[in-house]
Amino acid sequence: MAEYLLDVRGLHSGYGRVEVLHGINLHVGKGEVVAVVGANGAGKSTLMNVLSGIVSAWSGDILWEGQSIRRQRAANVARLGLRQVPEGRRVFIDLSVEDNLRLGGYGRSKAEVNQSLETIYELFPRLRERRRQMAGSLSGGEQQMVAIGRAIAGKPRLLMLDEPSMGLAPLVVAEIFWLIGVMKAELDMSILIVEQNARAALRLADRAHVLSLGKSIIEGTGAELMNDPRVQQAFLGGH
Ligand code: ATP
Repeated sequence: MAEYLLDVRGLHSGYGRVEVLHGINLHVGKGEVVAVVGANGAGKSTLMNVLSGIVSAWSGDILWEGQSIRRQRAANVARLGLRQVPEGRRVFIDLSVEDNLRLGGYGRSKAEVNQSLETIYELFPRLRERRRQMAGSLSGGEQQMVAIGRAIAGKPRLLMLDEPSMGLAPLVVAEIFWLIGVMKAELDMSILIVEQNARAALRLADRAHVLSLGKSIIEGTGAELMNDPRVQQAFLGGH
């Protein structure tokens, strides 16, 4: 049996002739939460998009339970159980909350999706109350819940979250991170989270990487990174 659910080895990628990722090594075990923190432009979204099969890998490998998925299309990667919640939420604003969620269950049976909807509504009771409301009329935090719920409707084994705190007020960010913590405890899945909000992500993470200019420059447990002076100075305001 493969040691890790996801194992990224020496990954290089970029756009046109410009290399953005310069040999990333990273793994996610079953049930683990791994965070990737880094400044604007470090390559965090590119990494997620390569893992999802949206942007192609130039070299290196991406193993899913020991099998290479480096050349798989995005739809196949999603079918294997690797689901991305993209940056900026991107819900379908003129569809109801429930229709948004059902779309995430595409390819699964109605009974399976109904079961996932129940799980989602238990996690996010506010979405149950608003299930017939157009997603565009929700607050930013609620739309983030819809985006996360939509990924959960596909019953992922690895949920990849791209900057879930982006554009949200601090109290709402705290709520979203609290909910991700509940998901970690209650749902049988691993989580890879990419964040500029290093404090919130490191608090949640079992392990974490600091990405800078397309390279993982520091790696350790969430707690180790929180206490690392380099991380404190660059990302935690020196505290
Ligand atoms: P942010 O937090 O600002 O989203 P990030 O760490 O996610 O930053 P990326 O979005 O992966 O960083 O960007 C890494 C580099 O790749 C940047 O220099 C960016 O300009 C470049 N880049 C990103 N997307 C494209 C694209 N579609 N075409 C060309 N260059 C791109």
